[in-house]
Amino acid sequence: MSYSTPKGVFDILPTEEKPENKWKESHRWDYLFEQLKELSKAYGFEEISTPIFEKSELFSRSIGKETDIVNKEMYTFEDKGGRSLSLRPEGTAPVMRAFIEKQMAQASYCHKLFYTGPMFRYERQQAGRYRQFYQFGAEIVGLPSPQLDVELIDFVYTLFQRLGLQNLTIHINSIGNKECRAAYRKALVEYLTPHKNSLSEDSQSRLEKNPLRILDSKSPADQKITANAPILTDYLEESSKQHFEEVKKWLRILKIPFVVSDKLVRGLDYYNRTVFEVVSGDLGAHNTIAAGGRYDYLLKDLNGPDLPAVGFAVGLERILQAMDTQKCSFPHKPVPLLLMIPLGEPATQVCFQLLKELRLHNIPSEVDYSEKKLKNIMRYADKKSIPYVMIVGEEELEEENLKLKHMSTGETEPVKLDQLILTMKNKLHDAKLS
Ligand code: ATP
Ligand code: MG
Repeated sequence: MSYSTPKGVFDILPTEEKPENKWKESHRWDYLFEQLKELSKAYGFEEISTPIFEKSELFSRSIGKETDIVNKEMYTFEDKGGRSLSLRPEGTAPVMRAFIEKQMAQASYCHKLFYTGPMFRYERQQAGRYRQFYQFGAEIVGLPSPQLDVELIDFVYTLFQRLGLQNLTIHINSIGNKECRAAYRKALVEYLTPHKNSLSEDSQSRLEKNPLRILDSKSPADQKITANAPILTDYLEESSKQHFEEVKKWLRILKIPFVVSDKLVRGLDYYNRTVFEVVSGDLGAHNTIAAGGRYDYLLKDLNGPDLPAVGFAVGLERILQAMDTQKCSFPHKPVPLLLMIPLGEPATQVCFQLLKELRLHNIPSEVDYSEKKLKNIMRYADKKSIPYVMIVGEEELEEENLKLKHMSTGETEPVKLDQLILTMKNKLHDAKLS
């Protein structure tokens, strides 16, 4: 039997992939993680890591029983002790669970946390949708300030600018507080009920359970009906309205372009006030790259302190895919700076010791042990774009004089044996600057 990955998951590999699968190359992921971590530091976020599985109840309580995620997408199982556990479908609930459990609120009045890692959802397999996918998320707990909503939107905006992503739109909306949402929900159901039979099957079942979700239905028939539906922001109470105005004001101050989308609602129950999404023009149907919003009720709902919070999550596959489509640049895949080819046992011993010393100086180097024909090794070095190659034979050892070959020009540079480390250090420095 031959084994393959289960449906909906993928490997991230160091090998060169076909053009449509470039996003699965591991050095691209490294680059993205580096960028995310660097930006997190600049924006004052600290990393938090939670387990991959949690008690199932955490997700049904926070995300909501009537959401798609909890209803049909969770990987839920019973462990040998009879406990119901679920692979995390998202990161916010576990982070808030940890925040409450570890009493992190006591340390400060404002907390900025980020996480990254795989999430799991049993979704229908389609382009841009996986059953294990990676998210990066950031959360700010403690303050209700609209500037913090904007700091998060700015984080995402700056990230995409740094990565060179274009053709993105930031959509924002406000879904108010629980009370005004309840009033709106009633008005929406009243409006939609006479059209019930014309709605898509999914939307018909949402009409009772989760009618707001009908607003972001992708079905053209649904969209035709919802075009004239009552508008959420008309139902906002005064403080939510004011908060929304402030968010827009601070976005304008930072000159961040946005559009107000009155049909934008989020699929998770815990959001209130500001919600936002970043949509790519290049990803087809599943084009939302980042999504977030305020969730001022969640901590209290999870029996924690009554503290407001705001956050977002980005899908890393979709970022890398959009970067591919837009031909964004990535740093070159790292390769050894130097390949040493010893001829015979004494030369291997010298090279082997040099290798250790080079690596102690963080100079990426290799010794070729293949005993293949020189021609083949040189061809391999060329294909891998290794910049320097050194053939070490008896003559070089006797004279303690090495010959460093520059692969790009074919020139050979003499280097004293005891000068190799220093020489390579300088070459590494130059390579980093170029
Ligand atoms: P969608 O509307 O695409 O179903 P969602 O509302 O379920 O998205 P969130 O839970 O807000 O998505 O997750 C935030 C981001 O994570 C999404 O914008 C997307 O980039 C990514 N994401 C969500 N589900 C998947 C998946 N199954 N495969 C790949 N990426 C995903
Ligand atoms: Mg979804």
